[in-house]
Amino acid sequence: MTIVDTTTELAPNEAELLARVPDGLFIGGRWEAGTRDPIEVQDPATGRVIKRIANATPEDGIRALDAAAAAADAWAATAPRVRAEILRRAFDLLQERRADFALLMTLEMGKPLAEANGEVTYGGEFLRWFSEEAVRISGRFGQNPEGTGTMVVSQRPVGPCYLITPWNFPLAMATRKIAPALAAGCTVVVKPAELTPLTTLFFAQLLADAGVPDGVVNIIPTSTARTVSEPIIADPRLRKLSFTGSTPVGRTLLAQAGQNVLRTSMELGGNAPFVVFDDADLDKAVEGAMLAKFRNIGQACTAANRFIVHESVAEEFARRVTEKVQAFRVGRGTDDGVTIGPLIDDRAVASMAKLVEDAVSRGARVLTGGNAPEGDGFFFEPTVIVDVQPGSELLREEIFGPILAITTFSTEDEAVAAANSTEYGLVGYVFTQDLARGQRMIDRVDTGMMGLNTGLVSNAAAPFGGVKQSGLGREGGLEGIHEYLSTKYTLIPA
Ligand code: ADP
Repeated sequence: MTIVDTTTELAPNEAELLARVPDGLFIGGRWEAGTRDPIEVQDPATGRVIKRIANATPEDGIRALDAAAAAADAWAATAPRVRAEILRRAFDLLQERRADFALLMTLEMGKPLAEANGEVTYGGEFLRWFSEEAVRISGRFGQNPEGTGTMVVSQRPVGPCYLITPWNFPLAMATRKIAPALAAGCTVVVKPAELTPLTTLFFAQLLADAGVPDGVVNIIPTSTARTVSEPIIADPRLRKLSFTGSTPVGRTLLAQAGQNVLRTSMELGGNAPFVVFDDADLDKAVEGAMLAKFRNIGQACTAANRFIVHESVAEEFARRVTEKVQAFRVGRGTDDGVTIGPLIDDRAVASMAKLVEDAVSRGARVLTGGNAPEGDGFFFEPTVIVDVQPGSELLREEIFGPILAITTFSTEDEAVAAANSTEYGLVGYVFTQDLARGQRMIDRVDTGMMGLNTGLVSNAAAPFGGVKQSGLGREGGLEGIHEYLSTKYTLIPA
């Protein structure tokens, strides 16, 4: 693999874009300067601070909720067609500003520009999809069984929502929550991850330009997520909490939400099995593996975590993926031809090194990579590691980085048992040309999503979400808007 030198200076177009990104809190339709030390946003490819932005206090958080609560009735009463057209305008504006959003995500999060562009497409689709769903919210109606009245079932917006997003997909994780909430008629307070708040602030500007009324969307980046979030979650005006992030934080938030019996959506961690049978099309399996493992530098909850490969094809599979990995170019995501960017921070790099060390100490072999290169930025070499032994941390933990770990199996039952031996259940990938076997695996692997002969399943039109400790609720698809609606039944006697 080639490690590309990273330049530490911002290019003129990068500096110009960063200067156009708002640096305040967005509350009630106004940009506000913060009152405490700013958040310093870093470029993970260089470790350099690229912008300082306002840092919300707990009081700012409550004022953001005040604004969302004040705007709630008027937004719920706004015609669905009007809400839909605002979302559609946001989709169109995002296409116009595509290059800016892609570059901004690469600068604050590190993913290669081509992938950042892909995220603009994916993130934008939630705006388009939910603009279409806004006008299709409906209920049902019928005579009661006794014949004494009419039962009417309708859907109402749940009310003000608190949305907490992670750093790995700065745009898409925001649009996947904001778009259905707005389509349903809910107002929101958004807390982006402190590592990547710039995309959300830039997006707030876009929403205002698209015609979102003041107070409907409020954005409060903060360096103290817990102290700002707790009072918002405890406030009786809040009706819904939607979170994407790690399972431990999700557990804490669920406990807090329990106090006020809040509606919750939780998109938590994953530990996806990637099962390759001896009858798989290996070309497809290798191609799928590259996508499922190395997209977003492995930093996705849908990333393939455990490659469970039939013993008769494991060596060939490992050889082919190693060849592909050795052809990667590692570097700053803005540089031509770079396929693997940096990890998000130095903790992530240390965690990769620890996972490799643990696996090797238990008998695994590194075929390529395995180290953090010298120099600036938070890089870790894309790695292929085989003979990973049961009990290794690589198999138990969500890796969240560019390490492809291979284990083997001999029977279908063994593959199923290995796939399910985790407390997570977000997504599974299966490669086989035998349709009946594929169907059996879909039935037996305990996850919320499956990819059959593909390494990428995400789609705005599909319900994204997990079972077991991967979370509660679904985002996207027909299901996504119902996370922001509550069912109301009315009896009208005859
Ligand atoms: P990751 O490990 O991917 O950074 P986290 O679960 O730590 O995932 O973070 C996801 C989001 O949750 C971020 O926006 C972060 O600021 C926020 N967060 C972390 N801890 C808390 C907390 N105790 N209360 C509210 N939000 C939190």
